[in-house]
Amino acid sequence: MAIKCFLLSPRGFCSGVTRAVNMAEQVLKLYGTMYVVEDIIHNRVFMNNMKARGIVKISSIDEAPNGSVIMFSAHGVTPQAVEKAEEKELTIIDGTCPIVRAIQNECKKEVEAGKKIVIIGNTAHAEIVALLGYTDETEAFVVYEEGDIDLLPSFVGDKVVYFTQTTLDYSHVQTIVKKLKEKIPHIESSSQDDICYATRERQEVVRKIASSVDLLIVVGSAHSSNARRLQEVALLSGAKSAILVDSHNELDNKLLKRVKTIAVTSSASTPESVVQELIGHLKENLDLEIENFELPNKNG
Ligand code: SF4
Repeated sequence: MAIKCFLLSPRGFCSGVTRAVNMAEQVLKLYGTMYVVEDIIHNRVFMNNMKARGIVKISSIDEAPNGSVIMFSAHGVTPQAVEKAEEKELTIIDGTCPIVRAIQNECKKEVEAGKKIVIIGNTAHAEIVALLGYTDETEAFVVYEEGDIDLLPSFVGDKVVYFTQTTLDYSHVQTIVKKLKEKIPHIESSSQDDICYATRERQEVVRKIASSVDLLIVVGSAHSSNARRLQEVALLSGAKSAILVDSHNELDNKLLKRVKTIAVTSSASTPESVVQELIGHLKENLDLEIENFELPNKNG
């Protein structure tokens, strides 16, 4: 009997990633070489390809030769990083996603208005490292787990506003916001108080199909926050198993032979060519019946 394979939509590049990737392509054509501190997008296959074509990864802006070209990732950078690049007279290619930029601008405005900042996110993620650069770090607090909220001050007499990392699990954010409001009833939400539409839609379609499949495959890199969230959402929503693979090379053929239904999606930083290679591999190894599974009213 044929194995049913649902190809989920929307999947893959979001608008911010598409923009950064197009910029990187143009810059490479124009300059041949450019430097990056952070991966332009969190995808190993894409970055390996870009490194072979002239992108040089460095560990700090200090390592970029004076006058060279530097690109900032879709996650944005701190204002201090911009200053340093300007001091070295680097040509700056700013790949910061416009949604991330809007969050940074609003955060800066709230800090200037004297408000304390709470950020729901992961302190190690590039987006949050960059956002903290727009705050006075002694007046900004990052929470990720429910337990982190217990450690927050109660902000009596202070104005306080919260922001959210764009790539978290939507339902996790809802839980954290509820607990935040219980502890700090006067906390304000920023106008950018939610995860990004692209993250939400990619999670929503996974949530809808998860309990109907034996295996959900997320094509993406382990260091991509939104890729890991898709895998988590699949498991929490009833998928019997969910795996995260960079490419078809990481698939376990023995596992594939044991399943009757599969769903395939990809993170917001995964090129569609990698998904199509994986589908090709599945077709070669299994009697596969592919069906598109789309979220109605999606933005992309
Ligand atoms: S997930 Fe959203 S915020 Fe992040 S780069 Fe994509 S469009 Fe921008």
